[in-house]
Amino acid sequence: EGALYVVATPIGNLDDMSARALKILSEVDLVAAEDTRHSARLLAHFDIRTPLLSLHEHNEAARVETLVERVQKGERIALISDAGTPLISDPGYKVVNALRASDCAVVPVPGPCALIAALSAAGLPSDAFSFHGFAPSKSTARRALLETFISAQGTQILYESPHRIRHLLEEGGDVLPERQWVLARELTKTFETFLKGTPAELVARLEEDANQGRGEFVVLIAGTSQDKAAKTRADIDADRLLEALIEEGV
Ligand code: SAM
Repeated sequence: EGALYVVATPIGNLDDMSARALKILSEVDLVAAEDTRHSARLLAHFDIRTPLLSLHEHNEAARVETLVERVQKGERIALISDAGTPLISDPGYKVVNALRASDCAVVPVPGPCALIAALSAAGLPSDAFSFHGFAPSKSTARRALLETFISAQGTQILYESPHRIRHLLEEGGDVLPERQWVLARELTKTFETFLKGTPAELVARLEEDANQGRGEFVVLIAGTSQDKAAKTRADIDADRLLEALIEEGV
């Protein structure tokens, strides 16, 4: 019977390729991949010769119909992205949604995911968290997102490119100066680093050592419940007023 397998691949360390991922990728009729050249190298490394089909941001909508038809005809197709779990800041949602709507089988083959790897080792609360994908590239939108974190509970998680990490931290210094931030860099790779501190402390670390600003980043920000210092004067005054009113029985 036909099915789409959503297969996670390594985020840097090839040893993270799971035995099940290898099995599925060798057995399926077709591997739909974000960048076929990149994935051809990955598959060749593991001696897998399954044909590849490109599926990226710009052709995903056009590919949906073909993929649904092929799965309905009984083909088994795997979906992979350049790194980590497909659909997580990567293509695949339209295809998965269409297959589900057509009652086709969609099977997850879980594995590496940068945000989960970062959260699992950052030392910030992991009981509740929100993931926001890539930070907006425009400063106004980025600030607006950071402002929503002022009252957000749970750890807030973003992907950010090395070109903008400095801007994000500087804006963070204005909007959330007291929070603990963690930069999880180059996960599973040779230069894996976790830096923890306030935005100002992290900017200082990046200035000391330019290498700390290179590579791939996950940014994690402690939620408000962990951060007593975030309570502004105005909030405290409002709380006191409310308490006084309650005492008065108003
Ligand atoms: N689908 C992927 C996943 O499951 O994590 C994410 C793909 S997204 C296009 C790429 C972004 O994920 C990078 O810009 C970076 O923010 C983050 N990322 C991917 N690999 C990483 C790594 N090894 N270390 C830190 N961040 C990583």
